[in-house]
Amino acid sequence: MDCIFCGIVSGSIPSSKVYEDELCVAFRDLNPQAPVHVLVVPKKHIASLDEVSAENAADIAAILTAIPGIASSLGVAGGYRVITNIGENGGQTVKHLHFHILGGVKLSERLN
Ligand code: AMP
Ligand code: ZN
Repeated sequence: MDCIFCGIVSGSIPSSKVYEDELCVAFRDLNPQAPVHVLVVPKKHIASLDEVSAENAADIAAILTAIPGIASSLGVAGGYRVITNIGENGGQTVKHLHFHILGGVKLSERLN
């Protein structure tokens, strides 16, 4: 499968990793939209949040459990945003589930 984020997980595509555990990886977004912009992805290929099920619930739990510590290590504890885009209308361009962590500035209250 030709998936950029699977390539980042395996190390065949370079990235600036900020966190890794058994089930997920976090790395800096190539095109940051805030002073802190990191993506957290499951190591397992899951296309989007639409694909979440009982079978991969542990992968999602690992990501959500890791996020506060990642935010803290990036200096944005207590003030940041987490976004996941789903499908064409949701603005998803990479078809491997990822949660954006955005922070380091007062973010707009608008979400679109
Ligand atoms: P989305 O629009 O939610 O699918 O977000 C995809 C994100 O992946 C965008 O913010 C891109 O800048 C980012 N991105 C694409 N390729 C890479 C890469 N090789 N390394 C890091 N971030 C990437
Ligand atoms: Zn993938």
